[in-house]
Amino acid sequence: MPDRVHNFCAGPCTLPLPVLEEVRDEFVNFNDEGMSLIEMSHRARAYDEVHQNAMRLAVEVSGAPDEFGVMFIQGGATLQFAMVPMNLLGNAQRAGYINSGTWGKGAITDAKPHGDIYVAWDGDETGYTRMPHTAELNVEQNTRYLHVTSNETIGGIRMADWPEVDAPLVADMSSDYLSRSIPWEKFDLVYGGVQKNLGPAGMAIVFVRKSILENTSRNIARYLRYDVHHDKDSLFNTPPMFTIYLVGKVLGWMKDKGGLPAIEREAAEKAALLYDTIDASDGYYTSPVDRACRSHMNVVFRLPTEDLEKKFLTDSHGENLVNLKGHRSVGGCRASIYNAMPTSSVKALADFMAEFQRANG
Ligand SMILES: *Cc1c(COP(=O)(O)O)cnc(C)c1O
Repeated sequence: MPDRVHNFCAGPCTLPLPVLEEVRDEFVNFNDEGMSLIEMSHRARAYDEVHQNAMRLAVEVSGAPDEFGVMFIQGGATLQFAMVPMNLLGNAQRAGYINSGTWGKGAITDAKPHGDIYVAWDGDETGYTRMPHTAELNVEQNTRYLHVTSNETIGGIRMADWPEVDAPLVADMSSDYLSRSIPWEKFDLVYGGVQKNLGPAGMAIVFVRKSILENTSRNIARYLRYDVHHDKDSLFNTPPMFTIYLVGKVLGWMKDKGGLPAIEREAAEKAALLYDTIDASDGYYTSPVDRACRSHMNVVFRLPTEDLEKKFLTDSHGENLVNLKGHRSVGGCRASIYNAMPTSSVKALADFMAEFQRANG
């Protein structure tokens, strides 16, 4: 095996090499403290600087306005599936959910025990190959929020246009988190696990409209309360210090690259390299996804037969292009090309795909 492969893993994902090298160099003796970061108190000054820096950068890179607070909460996006309705839905309040695929469905499943939940649009009828148009949504009266999944990681579809509805939006942005600008005025809350675009596993970043914290639930365990995390600056209990430290470094790397505008442009360019290869293949490679909803992060595609797909996965692995197998629930191939995936690696894959078709067409 070479030092580093082209890693198309859907999550946890490849991270910027300069960040990994910096972390390696700082690891054993952090900041001349004579200990590593993960061995010190989370109340130590050296850690507090890391913590506050990561919080500041999350706000700065995301462009979140003053009306929003940021929180680092363990339990990934999955815990947010439950925390959102637990905190936001009071007595007799309803929430609408878009079922756009595996993750949208997961959010619905975990919300149901905590409130009056209805499905505002069901992608099951179209095989989860696209996101809904606003006109197709059935948003009922007195909807506290409409929950959306900005990018379905397994289906490879993204919400190119946000719904135009009266209810505030809540979004699971896990798999295209901080790879696109966020129209904050539409949202009461935005969340995502960090391990797809922003760092190692271990937490979610949650942005909340501060004004709603006055009315979030108090009658739940303290760790599950947004107001507690917000009041305590995400230091209510021992935070995942290593994850926060690394996320801070990745956010700094993103800022140096030119921030969200540059990242968003590059993401579209990287995705186009693969979709253009698919479209130019005369049907050798096929994408099940509606063109308008093609994900910029997770490019799913099929080959003419399952045998060819197997050979594709074996041969690509031989070229150090790894983790291209589609999710076990849908099969086929999937290339995840998150923020840290270099354009050169995506080019290497596009070239390999063209070459594989020539040899096996
Ligand atoms: C990966 C993923 C999740 C689950 O995230 P965890 O952090 O593992 O809980 C939820 N939603 C989406 C869109 C995802 O891609």
